[in-house]
Amino acid sequence: MKPLVEVLTATTEFFKARGIPSPRMEAELVLAHALGIDRVKVYLLFDRPMGEAELLPIRELVRRRGQREPLAAVLGRKEFYGREFVVTPGVLVPRPDTETLIEALLPRLQGDSVYVADVGSGTGCIGLTLALENPAVRLYAIDLADAALANTRANVEKHGLGKRVGVLKGNLLAAIPASRPVDWVVSNPPYVPSADIEGLEPEVRVHEPRLALDGGRDGLDAYRALVPQAAARARVGVALEVGKGQAPAVSEMLAREGFRVDVCRDLAGVERVVVGVKG
Ligand code: GLN
Repeated sequence: MKPLVEVLTATTEFFKARGIPSPRMEAELVLAHALGIDRVKVYLLFDRPMGEAELLPIRELVRRRGQREPLAAVLGRKEFYGREFVVTPGVLVPRPDTETLIEALLPRLQGDSVYVADVGSGTGCIGLTLALENPAVRLYAIDLADAALANTRANVEKHGLGKRVGVLKGNLLAAIPASRPVDWVVSNPPYVPSADIEGLEPEVRVHEPRLALDGGRDGLDAYRALVPQAAARARVGVALEVGKGQAPAVSEMLAREGFRVDVCRDLAGVERVVVGVKG
């Protein structure tokens, strides 16, 4: 037996040695998760004795985080737009930047039934948030990767959205039958230039899927493929997350397809989302 505070200190030191940016806070989060309590409660339990049986699963979580697996994957969850989503290993972790996409699109979803296609759904956080915020949304959640499809399905289940969501495997919009309506296409596609990936943090570079990150030479390959398809299928418009500096190029692609274009900034002031509405 050892007191919780000792486990906390040892975990903090281990995380620090592994180069994790906020080692103390993450150690608290991992312990709180394992004990099923809030992080602040950890401070009330410093003297709590921890037995070997209890420590075993905690050590496994600590080991994984020490390998720089993203905290969200280790804990199996991440908050996005005020709700909790299941995150399974090997799927892109929801980022706060992506909430800009939700903010940009929500006020534009009009009508009694709005058909939205979320391309590259990953955890499903984008499309499912839209569906949770607006009961008129009917969602096609599409991904190519089986790990992502399973993760999306877990979140459909968690949030009780089975009746309004179809989870489809396929490339871009190909999996949506031609007879089915699509009003909006939304996507956070891979947009990191291939050569930049090696410079990213290990959480991203080693543990997140290339398919969700690698946008080719200039990072714009996915937009080149998706924009013409969206122009052909979407009855109303398209909303796309972009990387820093990519908004002008993506805006131009959309304008060329006849969309009226609007650009939205994230909380850091970066042009993060490009919205195109059919003229
Ligand atoms: N925002 C992610 C990152 O910079 C990239 C995600 C993406 O390519 N869509 O790590």
